[in-house]
Amino acid sequence: MPYLVTIGLEVHCQVKTRTKMFCSCRTSFGDEPNTHTCPVCLGLPGALPVLNQAAIEKTMLAGLMVGCSTPEISKWDRKNYFYPDMPKNYQTTQMDLPLCIGGGVPLYDHCYPTDHRKQIANPNKEVKLNRIHLEEDVAKSTHLGNSSLIDFNRAGTPLMEIVSEPDLESAEEAFAYLRSLQMILQQGDISDADMEKGQLRCDVNISLRKNASDPLGPKVELKNLNSISAIRRAIHFEIERQSEDLDRGILQIQSTRRWDDDRGETQLMRTKEDAHDYRYFSCPDLLPIRTAPLLEKVRPLVPELPHELAARFEKDFGVTAYDASVLSSDRHLARYFEATLAPSIPGKKVANFIINNLLGTLNEQGIGIDACPVAPEKLRALLVLMENGTLAANQAREVFAVLYESPEKDPAAIADSLGFKAADAGELEALVDQAIANNPSEVEAVKAGNEKLLNFLTGQVMKAASTKPNPKQVTELLRARLM
Ligand SMILES: [Zn+2]
Repeated sequence: MPYLVTIGLEVHCQVKTRTKMFCSCRTSFGDEPNTHTCPVCLGLPGALPVLNQAAIEKTMLAGLMVGCSTPEISKWDRKNYFYPDMPKNYQTTQMDLPLCIGGGVPLYDHCYPTDHRKQIANPNKEVKLNRIHLEEDVAKSTHLGNSSLIDFNRAGTPLMEIVSEPDLESAEEAFAYLRSLQMILQQGDISDADMEKGQLRCDVNISLRKNASDPLGPKVELKNLNSISAIRRAIHFEIERQSEDLDRGILQIQSTRRWDDDRGETQLMRTKEDAHDYRYFSCPDLLPIRTAPLLEKVRPLVPELPHELAARFEKDFGVTAYDASVLSSDRHLARYFEATLAPSIPGKKVANFIINNLLGTLNEQGIGIDACPVAPEKLRALLVLMENGTLAANQAREVFAVLYESPEKDPAAIADSLGFKAADAGELEALVDQAIANNPSEVEAVKAGNEKLLNFLTGQVMKAASTKPNPKQVTELLRARLM
């Protein structure tokens, strides 16, 4: 029997700052363990925290981008618990007065799983947010048999917690939510939001009920989810599992389960009875923040959201909705596209070349657009050669391949070295005359309307030419002469 599914997500996202939340240790990933530590982030007695203003500003920027409001005063609280990765025995976080309240994340169509894009149940949905607060990340523990290793390099990294309302209704919406959120955070340069590097981590709360009028069912929390596709699989598994239980009259209890990606199933970790009482209280070491001056500073930094960018690309540069969604999906890519544009080249052609050729090559090499060796100016010069007829599309692709390997070279010089240049007008005319004279029966057929034989005649001219002219140009010359 189908049930109504209700999902809420808690996303932890590392804020991209140079230093940690409460000390001046560098934030790092992959460095030698325990090399970025100090008395504050090691939680030594008596060490006092100092706020990282950049982390606060970036969190507020994230809030502004997704329409949150900010309370006049925001403050810090201690969440008390014991665990070896948090030696202070409390995490400094925000409880009742977080930096951001409310807001919503738009679900972009192209952020749904590819196999689901034709069945989107709620197009243009916006997922309501409850809050975004700022806290500190814990140390990273690695468990080896009976011992555990702890690396404090991560301890104290600024961590935003983005809490959604229970506003999602399927695994696919959760997938789209995380992808859309990732794009927004990247667009604002708030976080690289790379799940593989643990910069974005997510807990899923999921409950089922029979009718919309029923109260929400007891929620089951899923942990240990380390990729967006794993989250989709875990939610599917959990919907199935809870549905089977409910069909057999077994009620769910509030519980936490861990996802085992290898086995493709969730396993019970603990039930509500084991829930902690964190005994929150205001942090006596940190003053509350007056938010108004910070908001004023951050507001002008709010960038265009991906969907606003896409709409502008469509309207101003005539690219298709699909192209616009691709180009706006990454801020580096959007910037690259805009830097390549020139009044003499239709935006659609720039978009095509970037999406079909440039991105294809970068993907093959496993390189991101931000590390693209070809400067936008060089690509623009190449596209101008294509647009003014010097290069045919396939020739432009060959020039691009060389340019990619030798990005310091000039596209026109590469075209020259490959023998691609507009043939001397006089030579070309003469060759066209010759081809017409040598192939009378084909010429007759073309004159009678057989356009296909134009390609044959073009081939004859190309073969005879000393350079490699643009075949399109040759065809046009022949057409002008014969039709
Ligand atoms: Zn430190």
